[in-house]
Amino acid sequence: MDGTLFTQQLLDWYDANRRDLPWRHAPEPYGVWVSEIMAQQTRMDRVVGYYERWMDRFPDIVTLARAHEEDVLKLWEGLGYYSRARNMLKAARSVVDGHGGEFPSDPASIRSLPGVGGYTAGAISSIAFGLPEPAVDANVLRVFARVLDLGMPVRGSAARSLVEKTVRSLMPDGRAGDFTQALMELGALVCAKNPDCARCPVRDHCAALEAGTVSQRPVLPVPKKTVRINMATGVLLHGGRMLIQKRRPGDVWPGLWEFPGGVVEEGETPSQAVVREYMEEVELPVTPVEDITTVAYSYTRYRVTMHCFLCRLDGEDAAPVFNEAVEGGFVSPPALADYAFPAGHRRLIRFMQEAPRFAPLFSED
Ligand code: SF4
Repeated sequence: MDGTLFTQQLLDWYDANRRDLPWRHAPEPYGVWVSEIMAQQTRMDRVVGYYERWMDRFPDIVTLARAHEEDVLKLWEGLGYYSRARNMLKAARSVVDGHGGEFPSDPASIRSLPGVGGYTAGAISSIAFGLPEPAVDANVLRVFARVLDLGMPVRGSAARSLVEKTVRSLMPDGRAGDFTQALMELGALVCAKNPDCARCPVRDHCAALEAGTVSQRPVLPVPKKTVRINMATGVLLHGGRMLIQKRRPGDVWPGLWEFPGGVVEEGETPSQAVVREYMEEVELPVTPVEDITTVAYSYTRYRVTMHCFLCRLDGEDAAPVFNEAVEGGFVSPPALADYAFPAGHRRLIRFMQEAPRFAPLFSED
C-alpha cells in the first residue's frame, strides 16, 4: 500500500464529503470529548441533539464539574450506558481538581481520566490537539480489517495493535485530527457493515477488495447467546401520586429511578411477582388492579419483557421502607419528567402519558 497516496486520497474525499457536525466547527477538547463519549454505542444523528442540549446546559468542563449527578443523568436519559455520563462527571471533577479546570493535553493524562479508553484518548489528542495519536474504534478496525485483509479476529489484541501501528504510520503532518475524522467518516458512510466499494476513495489500496474477501472481513467472534428475562413492575398510584425509587450503586442502572418490581420467578405470574417485589423492596402490601401494558426492551445481550400493572395500596396508609434503593417517594405524575429512568420504565411512562385512560393523570392542571 502506498501510504502517502492512501492518506491524500482519504483526506481529499473527507474535505469534499465531511458531515457538518456541531463539534467540528471549532474543535476544542471539551466538545470533542463530549461528542466522542456520546457517539459510543449511539447513532450520529441522535448524538447531535443530545450534544447541543448538553452544551447549552454544561458549556464548559467547570460547569459540568459543579453539576449534580441527577441533572447529568437526566440529560443523558435515552442514550443508555449511563456509566458514560457518570464517568464524565467524575472526569470533569478530576480535571478541575487535578488540572485547574484545563483539559489535559498530553495523551497519558487524557487516557487517565475516568471513562476515557485508548480510542477516546486518541480522538481527543488528534482532533483537539493535533497530535499523531491513533483512534481505533470498531469502525476503524472494520476499515483496516478490509484494507489489510486481516484473517485474524478483529477484536483481538493482535489485530488492534497492528491497526494502531498502521494508522500511526499513515498520520499526515499537520492534519492528524482530520485524518482521524476521515477514517471515522469512511467507516460510517462508505466502508460500513455493507460497504459501498464503488465509491470508496481508498479502493485502490484495499487488499480485501482485490482478494475478493470483503464479505468475510472483518472476522468477528461468535455472538453471545441472547438471554430472555420476564420482569414485572407495579405503578402504585396513591393519593394521585406514584411511588418511585432510586437504584443503588452497583445495581444495573445505578442512580436511575424506577417503579418497584423485578424478575418473575418460576411458578409465579407477573402480578404475583409485583405483590412479592413490593413487600421485599418497599414493605408495602399492594394489589395489581389493572394491566397497563407490556414493554419489550433490550440491554447488552438481554431481551426483557416487562409486564406493567397499576397497583392499589392495601390496608392502612403505610410509609415505604426502601430496602433495595438509595431513596424514593411518591411524586406527582407530571413530576416524573424530572427524573431519569432506564429505557423500559421511560417507555412505560410514555405509554401512560399517551393512553386516554392515564393521560389525565399527567395533566398539570
Ligand atoms: S474498497 Fe470497500 S471494503 Fe475496501 S475499504 Fe473501501 S469500502 Fe471498505
